[in-house]
Amino acid sequence: RLVLGIETSCDDTGAAVLDEKGAILGESLHSQKEVHLRTGGIIPTVAQQLHSENIERVVQEALERSGVDPSQLSAVATTVKPGLALSLSIGLKFSQRFVRQHNKPFIPIHHMEAHALTARMLHPIAFPFLVLLISGGHSLLAVARGVDDFLLLGYSLDESPGDILDKVARRLSLTKHPQCSTLSGGQAIELLAKSGDRMRFRFTTPMGQTHDCCFSFAGLRNQVTMMIKKKEAEEGIEQGTLLSCVNDIAAATQHTVATHLAKRTHRAILFCQANGLLPASSPTLVLSGGVASNQYIRKALTVITETTGLHLLCPPAKFCTDNGVMIAWNGVERLREGKGILPPNVDVFYEPKAPLGVDMTAEVKAAGIRLPS
Ligand code: ATP
Ligand code: FE
Repeated sequence: RLVLGIETSCDDTGAAVLDEKGAILGESLHSQKEVHLRTGGIIPTVAQQLHSENIERVVQEALERSGVDPSQLSAVATTVKPGLALSLSIGLKFSQRFVRQHNKPFIPIHHMEAHALTARMLHPIAFPFLVLLISGGHSLLAVARGVDDFLLLGYSLDESPGDILDKVARRLSLTKHPQCSTLSGGQAIELLAKSGDRMRFRFTTPMGQTHDCCFSFAGLRNQVTMMIKKKEAEEGIEQGTLLSCVNDIAAATQHTVATHLAKRTHRAILFCQANGLLPASSPTLVLSGGVASNQYIRKALTVITETTGLHLLCPPAKFCTDNGVMIAWNGVERLREGKGILPPNVDVFYEPKAPLGVDMTAEVKAAGIRLPS
């Protein structure tokens, strides 16, 4: 059984063909990251234009590399939620035309479900497991109980961790920094933080008084921006030209993001343990999303998983960011269980906003779990 996966939810046009064991027979990915780095953020109409220019070629390439003819496919899986409306619409429109033309079943995919399940393509992880997804568009904690069965323990009330790292990097004009010109905001912050003093500036860890597993990053971004402004004023320099303490600001920002993520994850683990939501033997935390490639953040999470007896699993960076492979894999998992498979002629609509699974955030909050200090 062969599945073609198609991803266009944000700024990557991706396609891949997988067999039922998860072997990648062929894949292709067109990233728009460089374009968006130049414009200082994703402009949805530009993203849409680039998806529509590239989708045909990307899908063709994935098929050609796999040596698979469309007639041999068992199904086509495509991201239909959540994401940028204009971006989602391109992948969905293409896929609906494709499945009708080749008379193939269609499997609509939830982008975050796909991120969560990718680890199972690489490792034999049984359900249930805990997952922390941290990327440019999302941050969430969930228990994966089955292919389409998730308990949502926490999500961001405002921005995502990748988003604030990108915004701080932009505010510091890090793309003009000689070492950082081609790096994403998060990568630039990680690099500069290595030679920074994280104790020189102290930012408050968000939501210290809220005993749940939700995230908030907007307030932290505000704290960091104020600090940058203050330093610029002290030195009497123009906005975005600070050089003297950029590394220290990067280090303190990264440290606060890591601490916030680690604390919420710690509480989620304690909640799961108190409610028997994870298996007694070898419970696992899967960490994924673009921000998961940050070594400092990984280390902070390792400390938490070690103290709580969980096994931390993080797919290689290539599988943590958006691609067609994870969508195809989600299709394979759904096909195996016969879940959410539609005939080619059914009209499917995209959903820019779509929470993952059953919302348990109120229960988590009500439990009011205090962390050991
Ligand atoms: P989503 O996956 O939510 O649709 P996205 O496409 O923006 O959104 P990813 O491609 O998974 O997300 O990740 C990109 C984000 O990861 C960017 O915000 C980037 O700054 C961040 N990032 C990449 N590398 C690192 C790193 N080493 N440390 C911290 N953040 C990083
Ligand atoms: Fe993603």
